[in-house]
Amino acid sequence: MLKNTQLKIVLIFFILGILIISGLCCMYIVDLTNIQNISQDIINIKTEKIFEISIYLLIGYCFFCIIMGLIAIRHTNKPLSSLINNIEKLVAGEEVDIKYIEDKKDNNEINELVNAFNLMTNELKQNITEITRQKKQIETIVLHMTDGIIAFNMEGNVILVNPAATRLLRLMPDDNNFRKIFNSNLNIDINMEKLIYLEDWTSSEQRITVGDKYINLFFAQFKDENDRPSGIMVMIQDITEHVKLDNMRKEFVADVSHELKTPITSIMGYADTLLEGEYEKDTQVKFLNVIATEARRMAKLVTDLLTLSRFDNNLVLQEKTTFDLGELVKQCQEKVQIEIEKKKHNVECFVTANVPPVYADKDGIERVILNILTNSIKYTKEGGNIKIYVGFVYNDAYIKIIDNGIGIPEEDLKRIFERFYRVDKARTREMGGTGLGLSIAKEILDRNNGTIDIKSQKGEGTEVVIRVPTKS
Ligand code: ADP
Repeated sequence: MLKNTQLKIVLIFFILGILIISGLCCMYIVDLTNIQNISQDIINIKTEKIFEISIYLLIGYCFFCIIMGLIAIRHTNKPLSSLINNIEKLVAGEEVDIKYIEDKKDNNEINELVNAFNLMTNELKQNITEITRQKKQIETIVLHMTDGIIAFNMEGNVILVNPAATRLLRLMPDDNNFRKIFNSNLNIDINMEKLIYLEDWTSSEQRITVGDKYINLFFAQFKDENDRPSGIMVMIQDITEHVKLDNMRKEFVADVSHELKTPITSIMGYADTLLEGEYEKDTQVKFLNVIATEARRMAKLVTDLLTLSRFDNNLVLQEKTTFDLGELVKQCQEKVQIEIEKKKHNVECFVTANVPPVYADKDGIERVILNILTNSIKYTKEGGNIKIYVGFVYNDAYIKIIDNGIGIPEEDLKRIFERFYRVDKARTREMGGTGLGLSIAKEILDRNNGTIDIKSQKGEGTEVVIRVPTKS
């Protein structure tokens, strides 16, 4: 179009030029014929000459016009074609090479237009780069989020889904629609239309189970630039750990109440009986003994609970010292000698020579050894065999306590360090167990960079290995 306009201008100039040259030529010839004292032959010769000169002039003028036209076209077309080229590149999303025209002499409207457009392109390019960067950032966050996220458009089709959502909801490639995912697959009574017209500030929440996982779903609408609902966003959170912890807390409260209720009921019953009637001395002593035993059990339970609570709140002060583990094991054995003798167990202790001294909280480690040893004595029938080994592997000293007692069934082994966990609740309660000993032992060893491992076979016996770091 522009090209045509320039050609037209050149053409008009060309025609005007021809008319002027022809007009001048005619005027000269007319002037010549008006001169009276010139012969006809001279007029003819001069007229021919004028024609010849005019033809040369016209040819020269034609060339001049063509050259001028070409220069004009080239001059205006160059920036415009680069402009068009840049627009095409911008639309295609390719890299744009922006050059401003700085020649002030040629600062016509076209150059200004080109410069303005280049400025706009530059701004646009920067904005696109920024948007692309932000988009990439959001994509990376969504991709690596541990929570799942799915976005649906107004038709209920999936427009965005991250790997966490696929994993948590076990989505298949053809699960691409709101109804299919939530109504058919997960069997949730939820309506997309209702969600879309939720109040701005509200979100709907649902708790579901998928396999062995507890999942929380948050549904919220999102809007377009005109503030009109544009789809639904669903956040998917795995709350399995949270639910488990909550259940454990509830179980713990129930366990504590139960553990305390049993001795209290017993104490109250015996105390009331004693108060109600006149009993012989022997019966009174028997009843008082039961009361004393139950009170002691309660006291032990409360002490153990306080110990655990102090561990939980990091209130336990540990005084790490260097000491001989073999020596400590022997002292512990002496402390439980009465119980060993009561149950007529055969206890042997082997201490390997040159076990380096350990560096740990001595009172804590003593408590652990006493607990393991007491368990072996308690859970082994009369006349059992208990072997204790103290040795050294790499940087750790170890104590191995092996008994041939009742053992622990395999399915209970993995829960044995849980608070209040006991294999046979009724029986172990009779033996005075609280189910807290091993959890305390594990807490103590964790805090001393030690470890505890239990191997056992029901009816065969149990082997407990404790490792404590040496000073080196
Ligand atoms: P408790 O005070 O009940 O002994 P623990 O935490 O020390 O509590 O032990 C937890 C449970 O592990 C016990 O109730 C018992 O069922 C089992 N257990 C621990 N040690 C042994 C063992 N040497 N032989 C058999 N069972 C054991």
